[in-house]
Amino acid sequence: MILILEENVDLQGEPFRALMERLQSLPNIRSRVHAEQGTERSVVEVYLIGSTTSLNIEDMKSLPCVERVVRVSEDYRILGRHKDDQRPSGFEYNGVRFGQDTLNVFAGLCAVDSRESVEEMMRALKEHGQVCTRMGAYKPRTSPYAFQGHGRACLSYVFELAGKYGMRVIAMEITHESHVDEIREALRATGSPTGVMLQIGTRNTQNFELLKIVGRQQEFPVLIKRGFGITLEESLNAAEYLASEGNSRVVFCLRGMKSNLGDPHRNFVDFALVPTVRRLTRMPVCIDPSHSVGGRFTAPDGLPDIFHATAQGVVAGANMVLVDFHPNPAKALVDGPQALLLRELPYFIEDVRLARDAYLKRVALARRLREAA
Ligand code: PEP
Ligand code: MN
Repeated sequence: MILILEENVDLQGEPFRALMERLQSLPNIRSRVHAEQGTERSVVEVYLIGSTTSLNIEDMKSLPCVERVVRVSEDYRILGRHKDDQRPSGFEYNGVRFGQDTLNVFAGLCAVDSRESVEEMMRALKEHGQVCTRMGAYKPRTSPYAFQGHGRACLSYVFELAGKYGMRVIAMEITHESHVDEIREALRATGSPTGVMLQIGTRNTQNFELLKIVGRQQEFPVLIKRGFGITLEESLNAAEYLASEGNSRVVFCLRGMKSNLGDPHRNFVDFALVPTVRRLTRMPVCIDPSHSVGGRFTAPDGLPDIFHATAQGVVAGANMVLVDFHPNPAKALVDGPQALLLRELPYFIEDVRLARDAYLKRVALARRLREAA
């Protein structure tokens, strides 16, 4: 159960002391105070942990300083969507809004291979009105002999070019805590021309120590991918690790499941779960059609499978699309076979827009259905 306290409550004052004394007297219940100091106001929530089923909402509401009470019915205490839960969700980062009501496309390189590729990619993005991108610097690879990414060496030119081409947010995977420091340092050294969303890849979804470290920093928002061989519940709990450590600016990404049942796709596309994640949590939901489909297959209607899978996720309400492009896929050092071509970018963006329009019309239709009931 979560008690949301009145605005600007004084943690040293008598009413708050009285509240905590009452909570301490409840049998088998522990309480944890979570205070967030915003620029204009402070928000204080008290999490009650233990045998809370016997507590009555009205009784709890009548306690000093308490404004609202939310009964937490699921495991995902902070990121979850609970009954009568009107807590605001979503966040803004470096001028870009992320929520369950927005849609952002992050087209870019799976792996940074050269300065020229980065520049060609970003030039194309700017030309087509994009302000977000993906750029892999640290690549977790199956083979120890495969290209592992340029790492720290490429960060300064990636950030400088991002500034030059107006990129506001770059999704960048990290696989070790030292990478967070390297990114912070490179941003500082280049004058912070862009923002970075730290990406936790599918191989690290349950790397709990990494999750805790990334959750403890507040500077960068986090994109966490679903683990490719675990249940949705396990992956949502992984996201909750980030929030429980203090960072609730989290986007959840579906990227397909490792299973031959999805053949010939690289992974079994799981975008039917977009509405499910939105129902269970308040996180914006991302889809990664590139790592799901994994190839440039084209359907008889002329549309690549990656376009189709993207549209399926967007028409179901996805809030972000992470997608691989490359100026010359044959030369790409990682995942060339699934990269879309730069000349396909405007068509991809237009196809996403069509799917988004269809989604918004479907939401309006659902509203009419409810009103008619
Ligand atoms: C990636 O997005 O570059 C990536 C490696 O994806 P995943 O973690 O989903 O395999
Ligand atoms: Mn990849």
